[in-house]
Order: sequence, then C-alpha cells, then structure tokens
Amino acid sequence: AAARDKRTKKTKTVCTFCGVGCSFEVWTKGRKILKVEPTENSPVNSVSTCVKGKFGWDFINSEQRLTTPLIRKGEAFVPATWDEAFTLISEKMGSIKETYGGDALGFVSSSKTTNEEAYLMQKLARQVFGTNNVDNCSRYCQSPASDGLLVTVGYGGDSGTIRDIENAGLVITVGANPTEGHPVLATRVKRAKKLRGQKLIVSDLRKHELAERSDLFLHPKQGTDFVWITAVAKYMIDQGWHNEDFIKARVSNFKEYMSVLKKYTLDYAVEVTGLPKEQLIKTAQMIHEADGTCILWGMGVTQNIAGSHTSGAIANLLLVSGNFGRNGAGAFPLRGHNNVQGSCDMGTLPQWLAGNQRLTDDTARANFEKAYGVKISEKPGFTNIDMLEAVEEGKLKAMYLMGEDMAWVDSNANHVHETLSKLEFFVVQDVFLTKTAQFADVVLPAAPSLEKDGTFTNTERRIQRLYQVLDPLGESKPDWWIIGQIAKYMGYDWNYKHPSEIMDEIADLCPTFAGVSYERLEGWNSLIWPVQKDGTDEPLLYTERFNFPDGKARFSLTEYVPPVEFTQDFDLTLNNGRLLEQFHVGNMTNKSQGLQYKLPEVFVEVSPELALERKVEDGSLVRLVSPYGAIKLRAVVTDRVQGKELYVPMHSVSHENAVNLLTGSVGDVRTQTPAYKETKVKMELIQAK
Ligand code: SF4
Repeated sequence: AAARDKRTKKTKTVCTFCGVGCSFEVWTKGRKILKVEPTENSPVNSVSTCVKGKFGWDFINSEQRLTTPLIRKGEAFVPATWDEAFTLISEKMGSIKETYGGDALGFVSSSKTTNEEAYLMQKLARQVFGTNNVDNCSRYCQSPASDGLLVTVGYGGDSGTIRDIENAGLVITVGANPTEGHPVLATRVKRAKKLRGQKLIVSDLRKHELAERSDLFLHPKQGTDFVWITAVAKYMIDQGWHNEDFIKARVSNFKEYMSVLKKYTLDYAVEVTGLPKEQLIKTAQMIHEADGTCILWGMGVTQNIAGSHTSGAIANLLLVSGNFGRNGAGAFPLRGHNNVQGSCDMGTLPQWLAGNQRLTDDTARANFEKAYGVKISEKPGFTNIDMLEAVEEGKLKAMYLMGEDMAWVDSNANHVHETLSKLEFFVVQDVFLTKTAQFADVVLPAAPSLEKDGTFTNTERRIQRLYQVLDPLGESKPDWWIIGQIAKYMGYDWNYKHPSEIMDEIADLCPTFAGVSYERLEGWNSLIWPVQKDGTDEPLLYTERFNFPDGKARFSLTEYVPPVEFTQDFDLTLNNGRLLEQFHVGNMTNKSQGLQYKLPEVFVEVSPELALERKVEDGSLVRLVSPYGAIKLRAVVTDRVQGKELYVPMHSVSHENAVNLLTGSVGDVRTQTPAYKETKVKMELIQAK
C-alpha cells in the first residue's frame, strides 16, 4: 500500500460544483490532490474549468469531515458503529411506520448525490417505507423551470445542448448570472459573441459581468419578468414577426393564448416593469432578426411567487418565434447543483416516479409495483415545504435527509430551525456536521463524489460517469451503500455490489433511460436522454414532436402574479445569488483555503445613490432586518446594483449572517419554491467604517 501511495494516479471524474458538468482527470498521490487536469476528451468543457473545479477540492481532506456515525445522547453526539446506527434507525423509523403509517415519514434527497443514489432514495421511501413523501433540493431552485416546460413542451429539461447555446444567433439570459454560477458555459457565450458576433440580451436586477458585455441590458423591476416576456411575445405577433407556420403545425392552442395576451400591451409592460418601450421593441426585433434564439434562465426567475408562470412565458416566447426543435435555439433552465436534472429524473419527487414518469400513469406505476413487490399510491406525497408544515401539524414524525442542508438553504431559516427541533426522529446523512445535522438524532458520514463511482446528469441532460478517485475517509461510505443498508435492516436485501447494477435497474424501469449502461458510458463517453434501447440518444429535443400524446406543444395560459407585498418600512429590495468562488451556501468550498482566501466573508452590495442617502461607505457595518430575521454585514458600494436594490451572496461562513434568515415563507404558486428573490428589508447603519 505504501508503494502504491507513492505513485501518481489519474482518475476521471465529473465536477460537483455546478450543472455545467465539466469532467477532468484528478491527479492524486495517496490522499493528496496534485492537480485537476481537464482534457480535450471532455464532451462539455474540453480543456476548460473554472476556479471551483480546479481548486475547490480541499474539503476532501478537511479535519471537519464526518468519519464515523454519530448518535445523539442528550445535547451531545457520541460516535457509534454502523450497526448501532442502522439498528436505531430501523427500530425508530420502523416503529413510526408501524404506528402512524409510512406517510408519517419524509425523505429528502440532494442534487449533489449521484443518479443511482437519488434513485435508491425514492426506492427506500416508496418500497421500504410505503410513502411518496420524497423530494429533493430542486424544490428550492429549479422546480418552477421544470414545471413551466412540462406544461408547454413536455419535458422538464434543457431542449438542446450547450453547443446549441454557442451556435445561437441570439442568447437571452433572464435572472441568471452564468459568469459566476455556470462559468464554463458563460465562456462559451463570450467566445461566440467575440468570434461570431452572437448577440446577447441580459435581463437582471444586477449589472453583472455578462450584463456589461451585452448588446442590450434590461433592468425590469423585481418580480416582473413575466410581463415583459409576454408583452414581447404579443408585440411580435402584432408585428407579424411570429413564426406562423411553426405555430399552426406544432402548437395546439394559439387562439386561447391570443385571448390571454390581450392585456399585455407594451404600455402595460412599461407601467409594470419600468422598462423603456424602446427596449421592449428592440428585444422583439432582435429575436425576429436572429438566426436562432436560446433563452437561459436561473433563480432570478424561478425563486419568485410565480416563477413557474414566468418559465411558461419563456417557453411561450420561444414557441411564438419558432425557436424549438432546431439547432442553435431553445429553452435552457440553468441547473444550479451538478445533479439537479438527474435527481429529478430519478423520481425523488412526490408526484413523479423515476424516469420522469408520472405517479398517476397506471402502466408506469404497475411496473414499479411489480419490480418492488409493493403497492404504490397514486396520491402525491409531501414536498419539502409540505413536510415542514406537516411536522408543525403533528402529521410528520420523522425525516431522513441525504446531503441536504435544509436549515441553511430553505427560506425563513429561523422557522425551519424551530420546526426541525420538533421532529420525533431525524436522520441526516452528509459529508460534514452541517447546520441541519445539528438538529439530528443520528448523523451518518457520507463519502463525497471523489470517493465513489456513479453518474451525474448535467444541465443539458447529459449523463456522465464519475470514477472513484480516493477511498472513503475513515468510516464514511457512499450514499448508495448507506441507503442499501437501511433497506437491509428494514428487511429488504437489495444486494447491489456496484452502482452499475442500480443503473441497470433504472434502465429496465425507465423508458427514457432504456439504453443507458455503464458500458456505454465508459471513460469519457456520455449519453443525453432520452436514450433508446439501442443506445441512440437525443441531444436536440422536439425536432418532430413535443412530448404530448398529440405531439403538439401548448402555450401556457397563466396570468401575471405581482410580487409578495411588504409593509412600507421594509423599503429595500433584497436580491441574492451566487459568487464565482463559492459553491452554493459554501459548506464545501469554504473548506478550501485558496477559495476562502479569495472570498473570506459575505457582504451586501449597496448602490452609490443609496449609500449616499444612508451615509453608508465601502466597509461600513450594517444590519439588514426583514420581517423574518436580521443579519449584520459589511457594505460594498457598487454600481452593479441600482437605487433601492441590495444584493447579498447566498453563501456565508457563519450561519449568523446567512441570507435565509431574512427570506420569507411564501412560495411559487404551482411548485412552492420559496420566493427568495421577493424579500424586502430595512437597513440600519451600525458602524460607519
Ligand atoms: Fe465545475 Fe461548473 Fe466550474 Fe465546470 S463550470 S468546473 S462544472 S463549477
């Protein structure tokens, strides 16, 4: 073993820090990571990575890693054996199931785990514990985007690939900051602009780096994207700039859509959004003139009270202009975590089975019932949000969380903390003793991506293999092994020897994954679902049919829902989002010395005009207060933000200044995704500088 440790090993993996899905080789000697080397073989990034993919891996050897199961004894955690932990979990959860039924239990999966692990999480919930109460962290970000696409074009995923974004004549980003959230994808847009003269429209509250490079920057009032997007669609139709042949042949409800559109005139849009009329006309003109338009959107759209409606409106605009089913065009919700797409595909959702099959689909349900040997209810289970409400109502007694830091990530964090402490029994499986884990009765040490085999599905529906680089640290284990053991202690011996066997089961049960196998994904190979049994995949969706029985798309017929209202004393709009150097709330990347050095603490961006009015300077300490909580931060005065709009990054080193202490409980009208972006605060100056 000592001799082996001296040799340099190169292992292919897939990055775990965003949905772009870069792959590269990790060079190691023993447990030391020597370097990360992207190669031309990677189907997504070729020789590129961003700073997180290159330098974000120190957390692997962090002294803060969980290396043994922990069981709560009073206020403290005591190390335990795996057998002790599994015995306690099976006894407690088994007894709750026995007494109250399976629906008294809730399961939450993470988009950081592999497809195989997400699949097993829903299998654990549905087969072993008999409940559809299973959800994943896309509930906090991307569910509205999936919803808007499901109702219009039929699949909840990107309609094409990153190559299509590069090849588009026009790229529009709405409420997204790819330079920091999806860096390698952003470089593709910048390159296409520079080399081919690709046009770029950026719509955002904040004038971020990509906005600086855009041909047109739109700054609508917070929560009004639906209106300008719909007004542009109407204006294009009024001008005869719509693709009439496409609509006639491929969309089923144009007449009904036209009657919804009546009210969305340019004048109405100017009044609601505050955008100048010329900018709306210019946007319509640019779409009309472009040889293919791609619209990319992020949490600036989805984390609003009607993010699902706005996602539908984006699909509508693309349908009006005939921008589906052709290269260099389409809808691109930018998935945040590396495996948001995969964890949804794998059925960790209360109303979906694995393979994007509806729970209400009798044939699909019957297939799963046959394979699992149990009856599966067609009644949807609880979402993450429902689960917390059900705890408050005494209906949900226990929760099992895999890789999800709900106490930091969910909105209205103070309330979440109170609710989690009311659970009768709580299991958290993670790499670190997270904020959420501190409320648990049992904590199970999980192995991160570099310590296991599996597959991830990136934002463009591309499935790629990751290979084990290092052995799991201490007693930590891959999530798929841990879940398998819980099933075993509950009397279900799944007996998987390797994640490839789990993928074989997925392929058997899910038509969209029918041709997926580890052999076909060997090395740098990848497949983009849906994948036929013979291995044919489909990078570009909707070339002939939309995913509905009649093959036709449908316009979304929803109306504008104004943002959440606050009392007047909360006079500042608080926006939040990612920064390049940190992954999400930061509980992995903040263990990286280099990244932490680059960005040691969180801050609030204040516009020069507001700073002048409130006597705030660069470096002043301020307190932000919302109806839900308060945090203290240093101010950064910058013209990236305007007027009474503030920006706070979503990551923070300590929980005391986490932005989710300020965000509220109101959620998207269709998917319950918290309206994180619709937060109002007041700002108090604590210390001038
Ligand atoms: Fe990783 Fe995303 Fe950076 Fe690629 S762009 S290296 S996937 S964080």
